[in-house]
Amino acid sequence: MLAGLRGVLANARAEKTAIAAFNVPNLEMVRAAIQAAEELERPVILQHAQGHDSLIPLEEIGPIMLDYAKRSNVPVVVHLDHGKSFDAIVRAMKMGFTSVMIDASDLPFEENIARTKEIVKIAHSLGISVEAELGHVFTSSLGGGEGRAPDDEKIGETDIYTDPKQAKQFVAETNADCLAIAFGTVHGIYLKEPKLDLNRVKQVYEEVGIPLVMHGGSGVSEEDYQIAIDNGITKINYYTYANKAGAAALAHYLAQHSKEYFLEDCVEMTTKALKSDYQKAINSFNRGATSY
Ligand SMILES: [Zn+2]
Repeated sequence: MLAGLRGVLANARAEKTAIAAFNVPNLEMVRAAIQAAEELERPVILQHAQGHDSLIPLEEIGPIMLDYAKRSNVPVVVHLDHGKSFDAIVRAMKMGFTSVMIDASDLPFEENIARTKEIVKIAHSLGISVEAELGHVFTSSLGGGEGRAPDDEKIGETDIYTDPKQAKQFVAETNADCLAIAFGTVHGIYLKEPKLDLNRVKQVYEEVGIPLVMHGGSGVSEEDYQIAIDNGITKINYYTYANKAGAAALAHYLAQHSKEYFLEDCVEMTTKALKSDYQKAINSFNRGATSY
C-alpha cells in the first residue's frame, strides 16, 4: 500500500532499523524493489531523482511507481529524490508522491532554510513529507548517483560535513521531517575506502531529534551501517551497487551463453539479480527486526 514517509521512518526508528530507499529509473528496478520488499515483508521507499529525468522523465516513471506502490502488500513510500527545482517538486506532489526531497544544500545556509521552508509549508498542507539536506554529499565520477556532476577533487574534505548546531537551527526553522546529512559518504563508487564520521551522526541526531538520511549508501561496511543506524540514520539511499549488480549479472550471463541471446531472458535475469541485491540491502538495514 502507498505509505507516508513520516510513519514508516518513525516505526523504523523505534525498532532501531533503517528503511532502504531505491532509485528506480526503469520498470525492472521498480519490479525488483517491490518483489524484494514483499518477500521480506518490509516497507520500502521507491524514489525518483530529478537528475534521472534524463534516463526517464518523472511523468513516465512516477505513475508506474505509484501504481506498484498501491498494489503492493507492504508499505511503499513514493519519494522525489534530490528535488532541485520548485517546479519538479510541485509536479511530484501533484502526481501523488507521498514524500519529496528539497535539495538546496549547495546554497548558502539562509537560502537553504528559505527554500526548504517554502516546500515544507506546501507539502505539509497536503500531508506530504519532506526530506531536506544540510552539508553536502559529494558525487564520485565512477557511477555517480542521481545524475549529479562529479566532484572527485573535493571528496575527503570535511568542512562540508553537517554541523550539529546549524542542523538544530535548520530543523527548528524549516520543520523538515527528515534530514540528509554529510558525514563522509559519497554518491557513486568510492575512489578509496570511506572514512565515516559516525560520531557526527550521533551529535546531529541529539540536536535535531528527527530521522537522518544516509545518501551514498552503497559500499559502506555492515559494521558502519549498524553504527550509523544506532546513531540516528533511518533512511538509507542505495542505488549504485544494485545498478552494478544487475549489469554484472548480465555480463556473466552473456559470457556463459554464447549462441543466441533473447532480450526477455536478459531482462528476467537482470531483474532477479537486482532483487537479490535489494534484499541484501534491506536485510543489512534491518538486523534483528521482523515487524512493522
Ligand atoms: Zn543523494
